Amino acid sequence: MKFWDLNLRQRFKSAALVSLALLLIAIAPGASSVALAQDESPWKGGAPPPSQPRETAPVEEDNIVERAMGAVCLERSRDPLGSVPIDVMQARPSLPLAHPDAVAGLRRAERLLPQARDLVVASLRDLSSEYNIEEARIRAATARVLAVNKIEPDVELRDNASVILSTPRTIYFGTIFLAGLQSDEGMVSVLAHELTHIADGREDSLHPLFRLVGRRATTLTGMRIVGRRPEELTCDLLGAMVARAYIERTPGKEALARRLARAIEHNCVEEDGTDEAHLSPRNTMRALLALDPTFGSEVMGNPRGALNLAEPPSLPVKTRPRVRKTRLNSRQGSARPHHAGAN
Ligand SMILES: [Zn+2]
Repeated sequence: MKFWDLNLRQRFKSAALVSLALLLIAIAPGASSVALAQDESPWKGGAPPPSQPRETAPVEEDNIVERAMGAVCLERSRDPLGSVPIDVMQARPSLPLAHPDAVAGLRRAERLLPQARDLVVASLRDLSSEYNIEEARIRAATARVLAVNKIEPDVELRDNASVILSTPRTIYFGTIFLAGLQSDEGMVSVLAHELTHIADGREDSLHPLFRLVGRRATTLTGMRIVGRRPEELTCDLLGAMVARAYIERTPGKEALARRLARAIEHNCVEEDGTDEAHLSPRNTMRALLALDPTFGSEVMGNPRGALNLAEPPSLPVKTRPRVRKTRLNSRQGSARPHHAGAN
């Protein structure tokens, strides 16, 4: 799912980051401002700079994943509660805290947070079982998720959501983003994404899971998914899983396809740019639909049947996760802005 985790205030608070910026300016005066801007908000307009090449995905006209993507975006365009694509959100002027749409979005987020917490815990357990992740990691992650109890609206965050490890009970939400997610399904999916970052915590509890999900998506799609992208993709996958579980828990008159599409349709962008941390929005959808073929099948109106993809690879064999002690300070600098804030 594509929305950008960052915290502008933290950027300005962090001496480490300022130092990094100065260093970059000293090293590469022509590229530094672009690099930093790209890290935080990759769609300031136009195509990504050459230093941020777009990942490529194999695209076939009759590819079933492509058709599922088309179905998602068609649903979005017909849905009165459809989410605003994030490139459209990004082009909008700032929205004051008191704007009725931002207030409504905040109320929606606050109302859905308890359910999102419970569903993230359940979906995380399912996914971790599928990938043979150690129980102790899931217990620690669960405790962190269940402790989240606050949504903080923030005008400066605009079309982004963010978490900070120094305030692990709060999800920060840009007001444009709060207003742009008009359905419960869209909101619960984004909440689940942020809760998954919090679940990972300072200890990187979920990194073995992130690596395995990223590796599987690479095998299925041929896309290069490295660096921070496996974590972001796994957060999006949990978002889609949680949205589906939420739909099952709250039956209604609306079509399943429409409700499901809301979980990922904010990725229906025209301007498909990205940064180093995320797959592009459309490639995020491709990866999610490849990882979760049932989702795509249901969006295309074929409930309970999986997409007829080529034989997916068998699940990864059980591995012993390696605990990495490296990446010191990475969360204090620009490397992981959504987790910045160790101070
Ligand atoms: Zn994220």
